[in-house]
Amino acid sequence: MAANDEQPPLHILFFPFLAPGHLIPIADMAALFAARGARCTILTTPVNAAIIRPAVDRANESNSSRGTKDTTHAIKITVVPFPDVGLPPSVENGTGLTDQADRENFSRAIQLLREPFDQFLSDKHNHPVDAVVADSHFQWSVEAAAAHGVPRIAFLGTSMFARACTDIMLRENPMMEPSPDQDDPDAMVILPGLPHRVELRRSQMPDPRKQPKVIAFFKVVNEEDQRSYGEVFNSFHDLEPDYVEHYQTTLGRRVWLVGPVARPDMDARGSGNTSSSTLSAEADGCLRWLDAKPAGSVVYVSFGTLSNFSPDELRELARGLDLSGRYFLWVIGTGAITNAAPSSEWMPDGFAELLAGGERGLLVQGWAPQVLILNHPALGGFLTHCGWNSVLEAVTAGVPMVTWPRFGDQFFNEKLVVELLKVGASVGAKDYASAIETHHLIGAEVITESIGRVMGINGDTIRSNAKELGAKARGAVENGGSSYGDIGRLMEELMARRS
Ligand code: UDP
Repeated sequence: MAANDEQPPLHILFFPFLAPGHLIPIADMAALFAARGARCTILTTPVNAAIIRPAVDRANESNSSRGTKDTTHAIKITVVPFPDVGLPPSVENGTGLTDQADRENFSRAIQLLREPFDQFLSDKHNHPVDAVVADSHFQWSVEAAAAHGVPRIAFLGTSMFARACTDIMLRENPMMEPSPDQDDPDAMVILPGLPHRVELRRSQMPDPRKQPKVIAFFKVVNEEDQRSYGEVFNSFHDLEPDYVEHYQTTLGRRVWLVGPVARPDMDARGSGNTSSSTLSAEADGCLRWLDAKPAGSVVYVSFGTLSNFSPDELRELARGLDLSGRYFLWVIGTGAITNAAPSSEWMPDGFAELLAGGERGLLVQGWAPQVLILNHPALGGFLTHCGWNSVLEAVTAGVPMVTWPRFGDQFFNEKLVVELLKVGASVGAKDYASAIETHHLIGAEVITESIGRVMGINGDTIRSNAKELGAKARGAVENGGSSYGDIGRLMEELMARRS
């Protein structure tokens, strides 16, 4: 929906939480709204602005090359200082926090961001705002936006399935009920009232008795999201139709599904490039390495930006990749993983030889162009922690997954991928966010076997399901697709509010 002649275009303020997995989809989402004629501002701090600037520049270039009227700078990033809370100068998001004191300081900074958010909304003369898309983790933004008469739309960057599971866990948590097996981590817990039978091990969910603060925080987030104007999801209708219905009808919540927001032609994200039109040498190296591999032959391994692994886990993973006999591209250098033990502490004998000359494998110690990698014809499978962005990017590329969740929504996302969508196989991870040293160790043979279930001769069904779903995902954001329609409807509704 483009702006008409009388009305200035819709102006949406996007306010992402400070973590790459939240910033990236917000920048990609702003690009989708800008392509439909909205003016978008992303409010964030300097280091976080640098992560999304290449994607924003690329989206603006793409808009102007399409000749869309007056959209050369349709997306602006407004940079505000990171609050001075005693964190080191370059630490402005979740990836650089090393201990509990850092985490507490970071939480204080998150609260202090209310001031620049307020200021932006107060300046109605310079930038009147029609709506705010604010991260659910800024739960205070509901009240702040309401004080300025601006509708707040919540965004949490997870699946509707995971949100529905969390919602029931917060309202009727079966783990609160006294039960004979309450101390058995392997006991199964059923989440009631969902469209499917959803069952997880106790150890795969936060325990309300041991982690009351985590549960209390999720409760506030869930309540504030319900007080919002509505919620946007980086998802699409055909991916989880029963949960769209559940959310709207059973829970009575207003949602717009606008994804998948990531596009391979826009993947300049977080690469640290100064130019938006070139890839870093390392990123380029990944793609050239893939070019030399046969179609469907490579397993891509990445656990996002926040997951950490013990040396024992890394060693088993390396052995598993070796045993699998497949080509592998393993990204080990982002986020907390950079703080992992040096390779001498985990690399098994013979592994360095597999990497020599890139014969069998490539280890990337930096930022990889994930969306481009997933869309490369050489890709045959993705070993993932089930961060929602990664899952949806794999779904969109039609790539089947080997799932190894760690915390947050990841165990729920695994259920969706493996049991409902049947586009992946699990390695059988059991431990939700417990200290990595106490993780039940997943052996190399299990990892190899899981990769085989997705990429081997018996993986035909999983692979064809993934291909079919990929086509639906790509169709959802095209003109006439369900997400294209939801974006149009939301924009029309916000425009209508003006009068
Ligand atoms: N990502 C990337 N290159 C990397 C590491 C991560 O492009 O080397 C992107 C990935 O494509 C995804 C995001 O970072 O869009 C990670 O989000 P996700 O929800 O998968 O995981 P999180 O990091 O939040 O746990």
